[in-house]
Amino acid sequence: MRVRRFHLEDTPGMDGQLSEPSPTLPGMAEDSGTAIAVVPEQPGPPRGPSLSPSRAGDFLTCPLLYRFRVLDRLPEPPSPAAVRGTLVHAVLERLFDAVAGDRTPDAARALVAPEWDRMQAAEPELAGLFDDDEQRAAWLAEVMRMLDRYFTLEDPRRIEPAHRELCVEAELASGLRLRGYIDRLDVAPGGQMRIVDYKTGGAPPEEFEARALFQMRFYALTLWRAQGQVPKLLQLMYLGNGEIVRYEPDEADLLATERKIEALWLAIERATLNRDWRPRPGRICDWCAHQAICPAFGGTPPPVPDLPARRDEVPEPRDGASPV
Ligand code: SF4
Repeated sequence: MRVRRFHLEDTPGMDGQLSEPSPTLPGMAEDSGTAIAVVPEQPGPPRGPSLSPSRAGDFLTCPLLYRFRVLDRLPEPPSPAAVRGTLVHAVLERLFDAVAGDRTPDAARALVAPEWDRMQAAEPELAGLFDDDEQRAAWLAEVMRMLDRYFTLEDPRRIEPAHRELCVEAELASGLRLRGYIDRLDVAPGGQMRIVDYKTGGAPPEEFEARALFQMRFYALTLWRAQGQVPKLLQLMYLGNGEIVRYEPDEADLLATERKIEALWLAIERATLNRDWRPRPGRICDWCAHQAICPAFGGTPPPVPDLPARRDEVPEPRDGASPV
């Protein structure tokens, strides 16, 4: 495995290095929200359990947090950071609807208002996100700064994504299904795949970097098992501070990831069976919406609910709510 970090200020001329064109392969028309999958959709026999990188990361970070999100399905109020992440992702997804020459910083900024309106229409509770107009203005200014920073990292006029907001899914030999959403998949003329993930927090402190890289390995493993090809490059783009982390996976690396995920799933099954969901306090608690009912903070959790029918139907949060 090779991991390389780049700081914008350390690498003059980076724009050209990271903006290699990646035209769409014939037969892989650009679209949005499509799924690369080896598992047939309905109808079919009952499908096995599934796991996403976000939920896997939750369990690794704090088993009780996993329980609250997956078993209890407790609502989490929208936070400005999380909603900002969703908005920035939406704008960057829509930006590639424009013809290449029109993907400019001004075009991205112009997408903010309509995308924000669309989000508020879909989730009226977002109207109460801010205490006052000043707070809203500061939040919007940060959205604009992140979009401007994106253009310092790569030139979208030179990129033709194969997919955006791509749902990937694959089934392991054990029957466990891996699934997740990839922000962008670029495919080079030779067929090499590059997974791109936008992060709207800063680049992670060292203790969180493992979680971010685990998420990327998870995506790479899923694509490998779904398509039979190891992605050439995984690229995390931190729009909070203009840093890029690039990771080149290989088969040995992904096999180790597969073993880790299988072991993790066994641990989740064991915790489910034993109804044993222990809190694991750490920096993640700063972003956790459930401190009031967490024993680590003097709270009392509700009784463990019976198993939901489909543990995989929990929506994926955007990345803005946590440091990774
Ligand atoms: S507050 Fe911390 S320890 Fe408690 S559930 Fe949340 S993340 Fe886990």
